[in-house]
Amino acid sequence: MNQEITYTCRFCKTTRTFEADTEGAIKLGMNVGLWIKNLCCERCGNYHWEKKKTIWKISKLCGVLAIARNQCSEDLKDVEKVVDERLTVLTKKLAHLVCDYHFVQRTWDREFVDSIMQCPDKFYAVIKVYVKGISEIPRENIVI
Ligand SMILES: [Zn+2]
Repeated sequence: MNQEITYTCRFCKTTRTFEADTEGAIKLGMNVGLWIKNLCCERCGNYHWEKKKTIWKISKLCGVLAIARNQCSEDLKDVEKVVDERLTVLTKKLAHLVCDYHFVQRTWDREFVDSIMQCPDKFYAVIKVYVKGISEIPRENIVI
């Protein structure tokens, strides 16, 4: 039987409700309390999923770049050019996702790509700094 479930999104802390068959879940041995505690709303779920996918693509490119540099590939210049172009597209996508999620004006800087190109093994730190910076923009600059 369906029951109304009220939960707080673990990311944005908004309270929401939906209907689900908890009795069935309990019978299957599910820890419903823990499950409810870990729920997130659709907006946050989509954001985190899209962000994760984009970061995964960036990490693959950084891997390609690091290998090409380590092996001093003959076509290193070409590899760097292609990686740079793709990183430009992906970091713009990531920037739009992060800015939209935090309701701030979309901002992207060429430096985002340059920083990753300089230290591909530190790409995650570069992304973390960017996301943190956007999330900490004062609320008065927010556009809705
Ligand atoms: Zn949320």
